[in-house]
Amino acid sequence: MRRGLTLAVGLVMILTGCAPSSPEPSDGRLRVVATTTQVGEAARAVGGDEIRLTVLLRPGAEPHEFELTTAAAAAIERSDLILESGAGLERWLEGMLATIGGRDRLRDMSAGVPLRAPDDPAQADEVDPHWWLTAPNAIVLVEHVRDALSAARPDLASGFAERAAAYVTRLQAADVEIRRLMAEVPPGRRGIVTNHDAIGYFVAEYGLHLVGSVFPSLDVSSEPNPAQLAALADTIRSEGVTAIFSESAVNPRLAQAIAQESGARVVDDPLYTDSLGPPGSGAETLDGMLLHDARVIHDALTAG
Ligand SMILES: [Zn+2]
Repeated sequence: MRRGLTLAVGLVMILTGCAPSSPEPSDGRLRVVATTTQVGEAARAVGGDEIRLTVLLRPGAEPHEFELTTAAAAAIERSDLILESGAGLERWLEGMLATIGGRDRLRDMSAGVPLRAPDDPAQADEVDPHWWLTAPNAIVLVEHVRDALSAARPDLASGFAERAAAYVTRLQAADVEIRRLMAEVPPGRRGIVTNHDAIGYFVAEYGLHLVGSVFPSLDVSSEPNPAQLAALADTIRSEGVTAIFSESAVNPRLAQAIAQESGARVVDDPLYTDSLGPPGSGAETLDGMLLHDARVIHDALTAG
């Protein structure tokens, strides 16, 4: 078992051509790996200084794919807990854990969240993995992180519970503000076009509707063909959609093309969907991300 693990990590080092990072001395803190920026932020907030946290994805990175680095493999190998977003997002992690072990340390943060089917019937056998994009679901995320950390370190549970409760209060306030903003959007203007099919949970929770997406899929692995792009441009015109929303982690090139074709405009300020924003963006927290997106959508749909 141990030997297989060392071999696998050694192979990764050869493939990436990196030197192994020196093993860090354990200081007794819980070593936690979080996959996405959203899970990482919840772990940072709830765990505070009492955990040693590694977040695999960087702000702005696309979470459907992940290129395993030596540092990531080493962090996973040394971890006490691995927190994943789940709902089929981290397929890249499955294969890795099967090789190097660690499935027993894996916790699925999407457990119990009502997952939605994708809008594209061709993907009917999948679920939409972007469940973190509502305040109620972000609250579930924070509570799952709290429970996972507390189960691993019951002696620290009161601190985890206190910080989680503070975060939940902030998310509840964000939820009220988002509903207030969306209530200002006239019913006839609630159609949304986004870059990829990432915003379905937000749309359903907050009374919008999805007219279409530039990449007609849950990830951005397959580019739309010219006929699909032309059909979307037609729909945008016929539904009177004026704004196409871009996303921080997705290339806006095709969105620009659709905008030209349809007469809509691409909203300059991207939505944070797959990733939180970088430090200082205001969208580097769960409530900050949701409020940012709500304000961008509100301003675009109520303009003019
Ligand atoms: Zn996505």
